[in-house]
Amino acid sequence: MATQEESQDMAHPPLQMGLKIAGMLSDADPDFSDLIVQYGTHEWRVHKLVLCTQSNFFCNVCKNGLWGGGRDGVVDLSQCHSARGVDAMLQYFYTSDYSTDVDTRDEPRDCPSLLLHIDVYLAAWKISCSELGDIAIGNFCEEVESYWFTPTFAHAIDELYSCVLGSVQPMRDAAIQVAARHAKELLKEDFGEEFRQVVKEREYFARAFRTAAIEALEDMGLYFCVEQAKLFNAPDSEFAACTWCRRAQFEVGHHKVENDIETERLLNELRNANI
Ligand SMILES: [Zn+2]
Repeated sequence: MATQEESQDMAHPPLQMGLKIAGMLSDADPDFSDLIVQYGTHEWRVHKLVLCTQSNFFCNVCKNGLWGGGRDGVVDLSQCHSARGVDAMLQYFYTSDYSTDVDTRDEPRDCPSLLLHIDVYLAAWKISCSELGDIAIGNFCEEVESYWFTPTFAHAIDELYSCVLGSVQPMRDAAIQVAARHAKELLKEDFGEEFRQVVKEREYFARAFRTAAIEALEDMGLYFCVEQAKLFNAPDSEFAACTWCRRAQFEVGHHKVENDIETERLLNELRNANI
């Protein structure tokens, strides 16, 4: 007589078979690999069944040998932006997502995830995988705010403006908005050095940044926190938390300081494109 487990097997053969196939094709088990993806000296042993069922690019390559570059069963993706972008792309085909802990080997080990999202976008674009591209853009826009005071923020802007693809615009826009919100600190403080260098070198970015920064600074007021006896900046048009006591700038115990000379000076410099 069949055990309960066996009868379940018989009751749902396609599901059981699917799970078995998925197990055989998992990343950890390259035994059934029938395709190699290459980037420079990097090689990944993958499965046509996994890639071709999800990607027209890989389907065409395997059918017509378009990107084979000579050797059978090898797809050379060396034209992609980076090995870590390719690694994340392959992860996506196996797990529907990618982790920021990707295989970097001879690339810098401390690749910040913000830069990885750009690499993943470029890899996705190369193989026309818009779903992965959208995931990468979403991740970038979500994380960019937390990098604004680091050199990585400047590097990301530099990469986005060295790229000729118009489709990276949503990432550029997100970076511009973050830069505009923190324009005062980025243009004055030591940690803004890399950022100011990018403003000097990337004319298109500089123009977009100036416009957005002027808009943000015109809306920026200087407020006084009575409890802490300290000043802070906050927008005039919407609720924002006091830097010192975390209550809103419009709540009792705060008042607006007229004539914020520093903001006015910065606005003038931006309007005259002296920055
Ligand atoms: Zn306060």
